[in-house]
Amino acid sequence: MTGPAAAERVFVDHYTILGIAPGSGAEDIKRAFRGLAKIHHPDVSHDDGLRFLEIYTAYRVLRDPIERSRHDLQLRLREIGAQQSVQLVPPSRVKYPGTVVQLARRGLLRRRYRSRDRLRHLKIDFDLEVFLSREELRRPLRVTLPLIARTLCPDCRGSDPDCPACTGRGTYKSSRNVFVHFEGGLFHGQIIELNLSRLRPAPLSHFKRRKVRVKISPLTPTS
Ligand SMILES: [Zn+2]
Repeated sequence: MTGPAAAERVFVDHYTILGIAPGSGAEDIKRAFRGLAKIHHPDVSHDDGLRFLEIYTAYRVLRDPIERSRHDLQLRLREIGAQQSVQLVPPSRVKYPGTVVQLARRGLLRRRYRSRDRLRHLKIDFDLEVFLSREELRRPLRVTLPLIARTLCPDCRGSDPDCPACTGRGTYKSSRNVFVHFEGGLFHGQIIELNLSRLRPAPLSHFKRRKVRVKISPLTPTS
């Protein structure tokens, strides 16, 4: 591993090692070190000395103003990172637009209409709506989108018009969850176009659409 993830793995919070608060002064640091050294010095404890090494390293870093400020910056970055951790948005926050009632009122449920045409009649220019609070707009998110996929019939491989498994259609319709990562900085009313052409939901299957337009909507009218 390289980059920030690797740096985070080797970062040690020296204040925790010495059992003191991050704002502690030079005297507190010295006192904490001496107290712990009395217990963990290899001459006394007869252990492998690793604990003492840890304590001594913490003391050495924190008494040096330059090393300490470098350490404090890492500590702050780690705290910010924890606050910014990715939030999961469940599929219950995702809706397909155009309810059956809306469609029926406009006489759009008749067979000859394709769903794309139905949406055009309702002046809806997106495929999915994700409901997010204002708080969530700013955060990194992992959104679960249930998308319609088509899977080739395993019985006939799409070649038997009398196949009982797929009733001759050759494919099955199914719902597959796709995880989409957003970095934050979204806004309500935003429409994001996702390219699905390179995604394969499962072997021998593909998504019905190559592109999906996702609209970001407010979670509640007041959010
Ligand atoms: Zn079949």
